[in-house]
Amino acid sequence: MADNKNTILCPACGKEMQKIYMPEAKVNIDICLDGCGGIFFNNRELEKFDETHESVNEILEAVKGREFKEVDSEETRICPICKIPMVKMGSGKGGVEIDVCNTCGAKFLDNLELQLIRLGQKVDLSQVDGMMNALFAENLREVLGDNADNPASPSPRRQFFENLFHNYLIR
Ligand SMILES: [Zn+2]
Ligand SMILES: [Zn+2]
Repeated sequence: MADNKNTILCPACGKEMQKIYMPEAKVNIDICLDGCGGIFFNNRELEKFDETHESVNEILEAVKGREFKEVDSEETRICPICKIPMVKMGSGKGGVEIDVCNTCGAKFLDNLELQLIRLGQKVDLSQVDGMMNALFAENLREVLGDNADNPASPSPRRQFFENLFHNYLIR
């Protein structure tokens, strides 16, 4: 299936997604730069980016330094192309759950999920699970105290992922 040339609305937050041309894979991907940071891949496009040797520089460059809106990744997303509900599916790598459209094959990844999928190949999966649990445990708020809700203080979660980037992806 050819790239979808039309602008699409983000299935997670409703903002207009922006097209980024990925020269190595020769496809356009849609990314929610003004909203939640989610990435939409037409049919089999994701397969071109989930291995660590495949370049995602353009994506990393586009998201660098941006703050993205938090969205609920448990919510059912509607495929912006087919207008039907997408289903949650384990990616098999990195212990990440992504949204898949069974009609057109499109996949939607929340902010940082692509990086986690790629990361999942480099580190022990149980290690990633442990880190995810530590991050998203219900008592995170207790651990962080007031800073959890304070927009002025840098989000520990963001810092965590930025460290991961440096350690595993950008070298
Ligand atoms: Zn979005
Ligand atoms: Zn679809």
